[in-house]
Amino acid sequence: MDKFTKLDLNSITSNNRMNIFNCILEAKEINRAVIAKKVGLSIPAVMSITDDLIQKGIIYVIGKGKSSGGKRPELLAVVPDRFFFVGVDVGRTSVRVVVMNNCRDVVYKVSKPTESVEPDELINQITEMTMESINESKFPLDRVVGIGVAMPGLIERGTGRVIFSPNFGWNNIALQDELKKHLPFNVLVENANRALVIGEIKNTQPNPTSCIVGVNLGYGIGSAIVLPNGLYYGVSGTSGEIGHIIVENHGSYCSCGNYGCIESIASGEAIAREARIAIANKIQSSVFEKCEGDLKKIDAKMVFDAAKEGDHLAQSIVEKAADYIGKGLAITINMLDPEQIILCGGLTLSGDFFIDMIKKAVSKYQMRYAGGNVKIVVGKSGLYATAIGGAWIVANNIDFLSSN
Ligand SMILES: [Zn+2]
Repeated sequence: MDKFTKLDLNSITSNNRMNIFNCILEAKEINRAVIAKKVGLSIPAVMSITDDLIQKGIIYVIGKGKSSGGKRPELLAVVPDRFFFVGVDVGRTSVRVVVMNNCRDVVYKVSKPTESVEPDELINQITEMTMESINESKFPLDRVVGIGVAMPGLIERGTGRVIFSPNFGWNNIALQDELKKHLPFNVLVENANRALVIGEIKNTQPNPTSCIVGVNLGYGIGSAIVLPNGLYYGVSGTSGEIGHIIVENHGSYCSCGNYGCIESIASGEAIAREARIAIANKIQSSVFEKCEGDLKKIDAKMVFDAAKEGDHLAQSIVEKAADYIGKGLAITINMLDPEQIILCGGLTLSGDFFIDMIKKAVSKYQMRYAGGNVKIVVGKSGLYATAIGGAWIVANNIDFLSSN
């Protein structure tokens, strides 16, 4: 039996408690009368809940605020080290772990190469890195609320079962249940793109007023849609598969089993593969020198670096990728008219020239007058955004406030 249970959104008490806690978290320091106004509860109701949270050591009185005539009101703040949340980003090339405290500050982070994509071995690596991170952080284990694991692929909502992960070659792996056998706290497995966009939004801006789409341009290509009340999953839980929109009939084979998907042409893996094939076919390119003649070593970064230096082959590969990504984004804009599209992932680190190419392609393909107010921006949260999102998913879904 887990010490912390899932947040029950139908429980008025849990909701009120969470709203009050989030209000204190956002404000950093706040008095009870202002909380009451913000969350729409009476002052006695706020007092009863805040007294309970103080007694549990979750919030504390940090000092006194300014008087508006009578007594100076007490200011409340969150106790940073009362609870911890662990986020794990399971990537094809590296596994990243963060430990986040109750004020949502990252207090520890670590990255290691992915040792194996075999389920048993990867589960061991996730378990070991999680326990090592908690030990290194020197926080008591009973203060860890849970671990949010961000995994690429289709994840069954609720059970955290990996239905299909093309990048890992996984079908029907009960990742959440398996990790629960090894770890003494809650485990939530979520799609990596969804974790990434949650990590980005929480770090860079407030909640969306209509719709935000985050697009992950990395080893694969995926996206997540966030609405004002949280992530949009779709009726089957598979929304956001922008990378598997087919843009080329009879195109390259894609890891999903189809041909001509955006991912099969424009992902980091596809960009490297295109260069490898062309150079093997004796097309001149400075990428050949960059990989020291070993074509297996070619990665997307080498192709981007060569493109920036004016290499013709690299430029044509990068332009083609940007064009197809732009096409996918134009489809998204025509369909959803989101307030913002946040581009994230390794490919966005290649610089403005690639982003500019993508934006140009978007305006070429999007319907005239559609999406006039859509902003396309680049994520700012860096390499740990997905792991941070994993930790946030635990904080948003587990009812740590009702524990004793
Ligand atoms: Zn595909």
